[in-house]
Amino acid sequence: MVHSTDLSLNAADIKTLKERARALKARLERLERRVSSIQAPGMPGIRIAMVDGDLCAGCGRCSDVCPVRAIELKGKTARVDAARCRGCGLCVDACPQGAVSMQALRMHGKIPKQATG
Ligand code: SF4
Ligand code: SF4
Repeated sequence: MVHSTDLSLNAADIKTLKERARALKARLERLERRVSSIQAPGMPGIRIAMVDGDLCAGCGRCSDVCPVRAIELKGKTARVDAARCRGCGLCVDACPQGAVSMQALRMHGKIPKQATG
């Protein structure tokens, strides 16, 4: 007896695969941005999260994962309290919009009050 397996993809399968590919690409781009920000010149080890207000959708995921409650929503935009941020980067991975990046502090002895774009 010969078994045949239909390996062809229908339109729905292809659509699903394309959506997954887009999601993976977006995640890869976020990770690449994070690596770039880690490698950026500045004061090593002293980095804080920054939110791009134009990209932020106000979902609050970054705030949910922040272990020190350094992020709160102001209206529909996340804002980082730079004085509380510990630079762990969890919010960068949590943001589905790619709106959060890590920035090196360049002002010796000074921490900006707000770290938002
Ligand atoms: S980098 Fe870490 S500590 Fe800083 S805002 Fe993001 S989650 Fe909070
Ligand atoms: S996770 Fe991203 S989109 Fe959602 S509130 Fe935070 S910065 Fe904005």
